Amino acid sequence: MRLLLAEDDTLLGDGIRTGLSQEGYTVDWVQDGLAADIALKTETYELMVLDLGLPKMTGIDVLKKLRVRKDDLPVLILTARDTVDDRVEGLDAGADDYLIKPFDLDELTARLRALIRRHGGRASSEIIHQNIVLDPASHAVSLDGQPVELSPREFALLHMLLEKKGKVLSRARLEESMYSWENDIGSNAIEVHIHHLRKKLGQKLIRTIRGVGYIID
Ligand code: CA
Repeated sequence: MRLLLAEDDTLLGDGIRTGLSQEGYTVDWVQDGLAADIALKTETYELMVLDLGLPKMTGIDVLKKLRVRKDDLPVLILTARDTVDDRVEGLDAGADDYLIKPFDLDELTARLRALIRRHGGRASSEIIHQNIVLDPASHAVSLDGQPVELSPREFALLHMLLEKKGKVLSRARLEESMYSWENDIGSNAIEVHIHHLRKKLGQKLIRTIRGVGYIID
């Protein structure tokens, strides 16, 4: 899951990025509203964590522009404790949830999981597909009830494919979801991970659409 973090407080931003990376998210971090706006127009994300008090362009304006473009990206806003008006304005502008600073990282990750789940139209956080169960909260995957060991990248790839079940995802899209700006991607990295996933979970799970990408039907 690739996530855009817009937060100008360096210490807080660094803490959130580190924490979310450890949770398996691919995090792109920007520190002003203009950079956030540009990133949203040029990259594909599954989630956004948006501080409202940003330099160059406010978080509210970033959010409004996103929604004007009919982009339904799930957005969680971060606000200061004493600004009820900001929170109301943020929700009115199209935010899906909010957290008041200071907050606990565990609460942030739980709320992000809930956002992804609601966005995917599911009531439970577990994703069940045939004999496979993926639990985003515990990073566990099982096959026929037996736990399966996956690397963080394999888990991220499977999570993405299951989250978008029935849709063909291009290699570029999968790469974007798994690697942030800072990471170098090997040219066949996705193929290698897909190969491992098939070995561990069955050859028929992920279908290759030649020249287009991959799909879980
Ligand atoms: Ca701020």
